[in-house]
This record gives sequence, structure tokens and C-alpha cells, in this order.
Amino acid sequence: MTSAQHIIQRIETLAKVTDVPGNVTRTFASPAMRRANELVGSWMQAAGMQTRVDAMGNLIGHYAGVAPDAKTLLLGSHLDTVRNAGKYDGPLGVILAIACVDYFYQRKLRLPFAIEVIGFSDEEGVRFQTAYLGSKALAGGFNPKELQCKDADGITLAEAIQPYGGNLAAIKSAKLNPRTLLGYVEAHIEQGPVLEQQKLAVGTVSAIAGQTRARIRFIGRAGHAGTTPMDLRRDALCAAAEFILAVESLAQKTSGAVATVGEISPRSPASNVIPGEVDLTLDVRHEKDAVRQSMHTGITRFAREIARRRRLKFDYRVVHETAAVKCSPELSELLGKSVQRRQKMRLTLPSGAGHDAAMMARICPVAMLFIRCKGGVSHHPDESVKTGDVQIALDVMVDFLQALAEKAGAAGQSIRQTGRQSVKT
Ligand SMILES: [Zn+2]
Repeated sequence: MTSAQHIIQRIETLAKVTDVPGNVTRTFASPAMRRANELVGSWMQAAGMQTRVDAMGNLIGHYAGVAPDAKTLLLGSHLDTVRNAGKYDGPLGVILAIACVDYFYQRKLRLPFAIEVIGFSDEEGVRFQTAYLGSKALAGGFNPKELQCKDADGITLAEAIQPYGGNLAAIKSAKLNPRTLLGYVEAHIEQGPVLEQQKLAVGTVSAIAGQTRARIRFIGRAGHAGTTPMDLRRDALCAAAEFILAVESLAQKTSGAVATVGEISPRSPASNVIPGEVDLTLDVRHEKDAVRQSMHTGITRFAREIARRRRLKFDYRVVHETAAVKCSPELSELLGKSVQRRQKMRLTLPSGAGHDAAMMARICPVAMLFIRCKGGVSHHPDESVKTGDVQIALDVMVDFLQALAEKAGAAGQSIRQTGRQSVKT
């Protein structure tokens, strides 16, 4: 069955598969993740796919193309969640992709390419604090050292993947061959408020923003709040306040940028003590690496100037840096045309959040379709989407697959012609 209501029903059913009764929690390689793979795998099989689970616990459903040596288009998203999660972040992209395949299966159509729907086993990185374990295995980005990572109970990653027959050699062989791939297309809730504000159901993604995260420490001098005159103070918290506002102002002036100081921790705080030392975090994101890097240079200059003027020392450490990942112009254009046909209005926006597509971009072109979610809320039980929006997303994806099939089959086979080949059931 291929309708938005059916997709929503399946999302409700999958949301009951959880490690923590009463809320939605599925972490990497947990009992709930194994049950989720069985359930979602059964839906894949009902849509004419052959299923397998790889050494990292990724669920993969294969829908053969017209020719046995046809290239493969990958669709999907992740099946793991954060703790006390919403129902849609991840599963919507997988279940929507299965509905697309089902559309062709019901009509006994084969496309000029094979489709593989992937339910990634770990995008959120909750259990081992290492995001993208699933897509890293498929994209060949897995670092063997990560096998020794331990979860909160002291279980290593190497032990956790044993039920999947996982070991280093098996993980290496799980890597997909880039030469066989047409691309990877992921549908995902937006996790932000832009589509809602623009009154649009769906939009295409231009790029997954690059990130710089840093830890900053201002070091002044603690002192008595009653006895130290204002001109003799070296107040680290006042420096931090100035820094936070400078970061905000720079991001406001830079088109498409976001910058956040999310944590601020004075050492030994007390109401009658001048703060002597303050730690802050910084998170800067932009879809263009050059813009992000120049913002970051500007921010370090602010920190230096503020510290000099206030006679403080400062320490600045970059703790995480990822480059932006540009979506494929060709796939995005085709997807955008489908959006235009189904929604009349086309909107392209960057993704501030990371996605499996960022990792898959190492081995093939990627594109993403964002779906409006209520209030932009995600990673929370209040996550919500409209059934009508899911229907538009489904129509867009099916339309996109047909358009891609027309393009791929330009050598002589259109989707209608390939459609005469009956599906073996
Ligand atoms: Zn997600």
C-alpha cells in the first residue's frame, strides 16, 4: 500500500519498538534495533525487496532493476533514535522509501536501475558517542579504533556487533562499491522552522553545513565583590558576556550563518565573588567552508581583543571540525523539479544538522528532501508531521524516481517500456 496514511500507521507501529517502555528509544545494536530491523525488513519484503543486515547492523532491502548489472540508487535514513525521541527523525525517510518501492512493485514495474533502501543502524551516536557508525561502514569511513569504544555498561563496539556477525573484516566488506552507485537520496524532517514559516510542505537541500566547535576559556582574577573597585577588576564573566554578544552579532551579519555559545561555566561561582575564570563553548555552522572559516577567524580575533582590553588571558581550542557537504546539483535539480510539479513552489535550504547523506557523499552523489515538522521540533516526543505533507513527499519521491528512470533509460528504455517486465512474486 502506498499512501501517506499507511506510512503514518507504520511509523506509529515502529515507534512501539523501543528499549524503554513508554517512550521511543532505540540505540545502536540494542534489542529494540534488532526488532526494528525485523519489522522494517518484513515491510521491505512485502514491497518486493530482498533484505540483508550487514556487519554494522544496517538493514538493506534490494529491489532489482531491469538488467542484473544495473546501477543502484540508494534511498533511506536511520532507524536509531536519541533517548526519549520523536517518531519521525530517521524512520520517516526509511518508511517513505519503502512506500516508493512498493508503488513500483504494485504496478509490476522495474526501473533501469536497482533501488536499495537502507535503514542505517546508527546516525545519532547515542550509545558509543560515535555518530554515523552505520553509514561509515557502507562508505568505507570506519576507523578500526572505534571497535574499542565502550558504552555506559562497559560493552565494547566489537562485542555489540557480534550478533550481526560483525568484525573488522566483515565491516570492510560491507563497504559499497562507488562504481555501482547512482547516488543516495534521503528524505528527512527538516528539524528547523523554515518550511513552516514559508508555508511549504517540502524543500530540497543545497548542502549539509560544515561545523567548527571550539572551547574557550577567559582567565582573569577572582576577587571580593565588595572591596575591588570596578577599574581594578579582571572579570572573566564580563569578557565572556561581551564575547557571546559579538558572536551573535557576527552571525546576524553573515548571510546563512548560525553561531551559538551553548554552554558557559564560571569556575567556583559565588554571588559575592568576581568571576576569575570562565569556560565557554562555540558552535559555528555554514554551508560554505570559506565563510565558516572566515567567521571563525573573526571570532578568534574578538576573543583576543576582548582579552587584551580587559587584561585577561584566554585559551582557544578547536575540538571538532567538519567540512560542508554539497548536495549533487544534478540529483537536486531533478528532485527540485518534482517539488515544483507537486507543490508549485520550490525552496532550497541548507541543512544545519548532520545526516547520513554527509557520510554517503564520500562514495556517491547525494540529495535530500526536507519535510516540514511542527514548530521545527525534533529529538523530542513532540515531533510531528502532517499526513498531507507526507503525501506530497511521497508524490515528489515517486515523481523523482520516474524522472530519473526516464533519464537513465534514455538509451532506449523508458519506465513504461521497462514496466512491461513483470515482477516475479
Ligand atoms: Zn535524523
